[in-house]
Amino acid sequence: MTNPSRKPLDLQTEIQFLRGVGPARAKQLKTIGVRTIGDLLTYFPARHQREEARLIENLDEGMVATVVGQVAAVRSQFGRGGKTVRATLLDNTGRCSLTWFHAGWMEGKLERGMVLRATGRVGEYHKLPQLVNPKFEILSEEDAEPVDESEAPEFLGVYPATAQISSKSIAKLIGDNLDAMLKAVVETLPSEIVGRRQLRPRRWAIRAMHRPAAEDDLAGARRRLAYEELLLMQLAVMLVRRERGKGGRALPLDCTELIDERIRARFPFALTAAQDRAVEAIAADLRGEKPMNRLLQGDVGCGKTVVALYAALTAIANKSQVAIMAPTELLADQHFRSIEKYLAGSRVRYTFLTGSRSKRDRFQATTRIARGDMDLVVGTHALIQGDVQFRRLGLAIIDEQHRFGVRQRATMRDKGLDPHFLVMTATPIPRTLALTAFGDLDVTVIDALPPGRSPIETRLYGRGRDGDAWRFVQSRLDAGEQAYVVYPIIDESDKLQLRAATAAYEDLAKRIFADRRVGLLHGRMAKAERDVVMSAFVAGELDILVATTVIEVGIDVPNATCMVVEHAERYGLSQLHQLRGRVGRGDKRGYCLLLSEQVAPEQNERLSVMTQTTDGFRIAEEDLRLRGPGEMLGTRQHGLPELRVANLATDAELLLLARDDAGVLLREDPSLSAGKHRALREALKAQYAGARSFFKAG
Ligand code: ADP
Ligand code: MG
Repeated sequence: MTNPSRKPLDLQTEIQFLRGVGPARAKQLKTIGVRTIGDLLTYFPARHQREEARLIENLDEGMVATVVGQVAAVRSQFGRGGKTVRATLLDNTGRCSLTWFHAGWMEGKLERGMVLRATGRVGEYHKLPQLVNPKFEILSEEDAEPVDESEAPEFLGVYPATAQISSKSIAKLIGDNLDAMLKAVVETLPSEIVGRRQLRPRRWAIRAMHRPAAEDDLAGARRRLAYEELLLMQLAVMLVRRERGKGGRALPLDCTELIDERIRARFPFALTAAQDRAVEAIAADLRGEKPMNRLLQGDVGCGKTVVALYAALTAIANKSQVAIMAPTELLADQHFRSIEKYLAGSRVRYTFLTGSRSKRDRFQATTRIARGDMDLVVGTHALIQGDVQFRRLGLAIIDEQHRFGVRQRATMRDKGLDPHFLVMTATPIPRTLALTAFGDLDVTVIDALPPGRSPIETRLYGRGRDGDAWRFVQSRLDAGEQAYVVYPIIDESDKLQLRAATAAYEDLAKRIFADRRVGLLHGRMAKAERDVVMSAFVAGELDILVATTVIEVGIDVPNATCMVVEHAERYGLSQLHQLRGRVGRGDKRGYCLLLSEQVAPEQNERLSVMTQTTDGFRIAEEDLRLRGPGEMLGTRQHGLPELRVANLATDAELLLLARDDAGVLLREDPSLSAGKHRALREALKAQYAGARSFFKAG
């Protein structure tokens, strides 16, 4: 193996040029995402493990252990395998033997009286514990204190490993090259920020992540690197947002007092204070020429649809068209139904447009949309597919945006239109996540339910206790109420899952609730068929509705007070929270019964959060902590940057600091072209090619 040159390493250099990496190793490293030397340098340990020093009397055969003791004797001898060196090591509890084979290199290294720390696998030799070819370190006097097994020992990095490449080999590769690689590391943060936020230098931090000298170093290193990631992320988010602001113009839509009055008159209730706040923010946005880009967040049932409709009617009063889009037909259908209810008797022309409508219907609808004699269109993604041309689209309302690709949003804009955007979501999103995944949106939260609702009571049943749950359901049915039973189907096209759900339905219908009327609803049924079942349930002709998760976005039946969720352990907490929002919507108390296939209480700890709180945000934070952001948002299109060190669940405070600093930086130096910002700009460019036009511009 030759090192091609002595010149300092370049972090962009491909990994195979690193000392100790051949083509095979390079291939393995690629599988863990390490392509360049810089990638390796920032391939941080997942955790650090204390390497415990043991007392010699506590050594057991087979274990890998570290001992600290004094060398009592050293011998070397020649044998068939070359030179063998043996040392006897003493501590206060006993004696052990250290043996190195093929140990020419050991010649003269050890002397009687030295203190060693040695690590190796424990075997036996002449009735003494023996470490064969142990790694060792000669300790200075002060390091050589007697072992106290309860004391905090040294930290070793444990790297995320695979079957092909072990944590140990990664550690060795990094250890062998750390100093050389670190020479190539430059400081990215301007010194004012480093000073103000009391951050460690970059090089120090990277070293400490791999080789912390003390436990405290880790926290400082993490904080520094997490801050940097968050700062870059916030800069990128702000740049994208700035680009957008520069972009097109939207139709200003003015909500006059008269319009406001007429809209409010459509609702059979007064808006809640939280709804009023949301309406105010939206009205202010709509008045401007800058396109609105607002996220409306709030629990199921808090009254988002009403707010969205308010926005839609404002736009329509200004003679512009409105599109309302949902990720599924069922959800679109639900919106359409509730809008129909509120618009009864009005002059607003509205239609429902989804992929499943007949060609003729669709043609008629799109023609009217294009002519401009259709005010409001409710539909799915099909709304923005090729043939739909609006004449004057002023507002686009998108439900559950995180399932809506960024690209799809751009498509609407590219049609020469620049609508205002209102995005709704019932998934409570922790603030950190909102600032990240939806960082380019303004956020409004509806944080209170309409009056007169009592909170849902949630109970958790472990495996084998479902009998209790069914008995409880019986009691609700006896009281004349209805129940949902939700069965998880993650992928509606998965035949196996569908069969399991159908079997569960039959068991309920034929056995447990043989005396009740039970219906089945799943996403693979034809729409007409689904409608029949749904209407029957709404009309009270069914007592129990067994449904796959399509119900999540489904129906609003006040008499349905009880929901059983089977295999609750398969859901994210936020998803469960959203599901249970389907009960307790009337004035009767709602119940949610979670059936978990798990037995042990600690396995159900996650689920027990559901029984303790109905605060969607708390649940979301918990979910984020337990599952991570990608998993939580549920798709790969969430557009989150990869964070190696920062953690959106625990670094909220740091994120807010980084956000403030990003704002200040861009205000002072909008193109980050000052000399002191050059390194930061380069780092941003390397990680966020997405903020492209910014980088082109300067
Ligand atoms: P979301 O879309 O957030 O799930 P909806 O807008 O569908 O909530 O409202 C849920 C239910 O609450 C609906 O039946 C709606 O009629 C009712 N509702 C909404 N706002 C109010 C209010 N201010 N006062 C009373 N009931 C309301
Ligand atoms: Mg709704």
